[in-house]
Amino acid sequence: MRKKIVAGNWKMNMNLEEGKTLVEGVLEGLPALSENKQVVLAPPFIHLASIGEQLTGKHHIHLGAQNCSYEGSGAYTGEISASMVKSTGAEYVILGHSERREYFKEDHAMLVKKINLVLENKMQVIFCCGEPLEIRDADTQNAYVQEQISAELFHLDATQLKNVVIAYEPIWAIGTGRTASAQQAQDMHAHIRSVIAAKYGQDAANDMTILYGGSCKPSNAAELFGCPDVDGGLIGGASLKAEEFLGIVNAM
Ligand code: PEP
Repeated sequence: MRKKIVAGNWKMNMNLEEGKTLVEGVLEGLPALSENKQVVLAPPFIHLASIGEQLTGKHHIHLGAQNCSYEGSGAYTGEISASMVKSTGAEYVILGHSERREYFKEDHAMLVKKINLVLENKMQVIFCCGEPLEIRDADTQNAYVQEQISAELFHLDATQLKNVVIAYEPIWAIGTGRTASAQQAQDMHAHIRSVIAAKYGQDAANDMTILYGGSCKPSNAAELFGCPDVDGGLIGGASLKAEEFLGIVNAM
């Protein structure tokens, strides 16, 4: 059965104490989840080890990082490698977030290197893709997202792809309060699944977990997650308050 995930991307928010309090709140209210459902928390790098300890032994809740270096190790001051992330107990790494693409100029070549390093280190990639507003307005979003996927994922073989989760995040919906409609999300998710099917076959496409991200909140999560091709969400702002995040988890 396809895996369903609600993942919280804290971005550059929360000091350690605030983060630990948030995790306590999430753990207190976490509902019993069926076997195929997971919650992922992606705090800033510096909190990974501490928050990993809080999550030890807890079922269905996993640790993720928001990024990693495109180099494996060496003289890269300030960088954090995939193997360092792995050593904290993290199981997921978010890659290709639009904020990284835009503010830190991450391109196809860098993302291919990062994806390879995460997979080599036996973690799973949450691969973000999604179009800016001008592409949506020109109605060319399907080709735009297809290009991101083919340039950054299609070097992987079918076995490697099993460790990739795709997150469709229309940039115009991130942190803006403007959510994609359930129909817009479903249409894009079905398109992404067909792109995966054309390259890797229908079984691989059916197994692919595709998350929606962009101003997802308790009030719209149930409708979004009710779409046949939406397998959960990548949550930014609403992951910073236990009650809101749990409201979204409950919609899964
Ligand atoms: C994100 O940045 O991944 C995201 C979905 O943010 P928000 O939920 O705040 O729109």
